[in-house]
Amino acid sequence: MVRVRKTIKCKIIKPTELKLKHLNKEYNNVQELLQLESKGIEFLPIFHSLKKKVYSANLQQALRFYKKIKPNKEYPISFRKDLLEVRKTDNKLSKYWVKIPTKQRKGGLKLAIKSQPFNFKDYEICESKLFKKKNNWFLNLTVQKEVELNNTYDSVLSLDLGQKYMGVSVMHPSTLMIPKFYGKEVRGIRRNYDYIRKQLGKNKLLKEIKRFGQKEQRKVTDCLHKISNEIVDLALTSNSTIVVGDLKGIRKSAKGKGRKFNRIVSNMPYLELIQMLEYKANWEGIRVIKVNERGTSHTCSKCGNEGSRPKQGVFNCSVCGLKDYNADVNGASNIGNKLSSGYILEDGATLTLPETDVYETSESSDFSRGECQK
Ligand SMILES: [Zn+2]
Repeated sequence: MVRVRKTIKCKIIKPTELKLKHLNKEYNNVQELLQLESKGIEFLPIFHSLKKKVYSANLQQALRFYKKIKPNKEYPISFRKDLLEVRKTDNKLSKYWVKIPTKQRKGGLKLAIKSQPFNFKDYEICESKLFKKKNNWFLNLTVQKEVELNNTYDSVLSLDLGQKYMGVSVMHPSTLMIPKFYGKEVRGIRRNYDYIRKQLGKNKLLKEIKRFGQKEQRKVTDCLHKISNEIVDLALTSNSTIVVGDLKGIRKSAKGKGRKFNRIVSNMPYLELIQMLEYKANWEGIRVIKVNERGTSHTCSKCGNEGSRPKQGVFNCSVCGLKDYNADVNGASNIGNKLSSGYILEDGATLTLPETDVYETSESSDFSRGECQK
């Protein structure tokens, strides 16, 4: 059993005028109280009269979380888990509604929410936060559940993390799927930001640097969600376990290639991708197994001998004759091979796999390329 926790960003959709008024009141009063408290004037009558207008648990949560209050900064309201409720609905407006505690509405304020597709089954709600952004309201709903991971798989989906593409996945047995490439644009987004940051840095525009950083982060996170969703869906429909290389190898291979290159590579959000992949897969009962990447880029995935990489992205093997093979696909295959050749799964999980094979292709452009939307 593993405990999986994740946060689902939900947009509160089309609240009525009255509900909006209640929301704003609760939110504004919490902000005002936090500012007053930070100035140490909680003994003033104004603090006490205001306090009566806020749901007490919401204020307690806020005071517990935010030790240091910055002037003019707004803070999300954190709701205690036992005061939140999420329900499925047949409403035309939305599939789900959430009930949050507020002072204004006894029994809670019921709001329609829109979220990414989510398996609302056997979960437990955790403390969640309400944000206001430019007159839009969002609830970051945190949920968790205990999951029994599957013990029997029909195939292995292996993922190699790369520099040109965020990752390439291959299936063992390969007849089930051609290799898939993900997230080509991530490196571009990083590079672009790197350039902008440098320009802004010259002019000491610190605020703009921060703003661009947040924008970049949103774009990248969006890509990572799409990549991880796609991989988990693949694993679900094929009943595969997911295998990834551990991350130490990538940082090592990036060494000695110049500072700029290093910065871009070490900025690549591999860790975030693996973490997303892990919680999303585990949520569905799928295991994610990490294997040592040693040798996976130089070994021939077909025959196991040492091959060569005449140029970036190409793999050749003089022993079995594999030629002009896509180096990333070779790497991903090797990662999968590590598992299928006697890697022991934890908890006695079993794997029924045919012998490994190789993709009959020489043109990397034949592969499908998963790209995120802009
Ligand atoms: Zn070979």
